[in-house]
Amino acid sequence: MDLITGLSAAQQAIGIVKSLRDIERDLDSATYKAQMAELYSGLADVKMALTDAQTQLHEKDQAIRLLEETIKALKTGEACPMCQEGQMKLFSAKPHPEFGVFGHEERKFKCTNSECDHTAVRKYVPGE
Ligand SMILES: [Zn+2]
Repeated sequence: MDLITGLSAAQQAIGIVKSLRDIERDLDSATYKAQMAELYSGLADVKMALTDAQTQLHEKDQAIRLLEETIKALKTGEACPMCQEGQMKLFSAKPHPEFGVFGHEERKFKCTNSECDHTAVRKYVPGE
């Protein structure tokens, strides 16, 4: 269930509450009971939509964090220490052989100058 459906369910539930206020306070009234059932159902829909929205936001946060880390890694282009012409660009990344379980990576950087091809291997620690 998406947020729009949830919001319209909330709107509907509010409408039911308003109409309940107008009904005479006869608790045996069939109309009253029907409206209450509809209200409970509407609120259940709202709860489900909000739970789904929370999950979706959490997934989006994770995706954004991953993209930010990727952008940061791609932007760490620095001048090649060998030729001083090319940039050291991320070439490959794999889990670190010893510290991979902690999210550490072994990243290989390669000079963009085709006449140089200098490579460097660095340990990457997330958040550093
Ligand atoms: Zn170079």
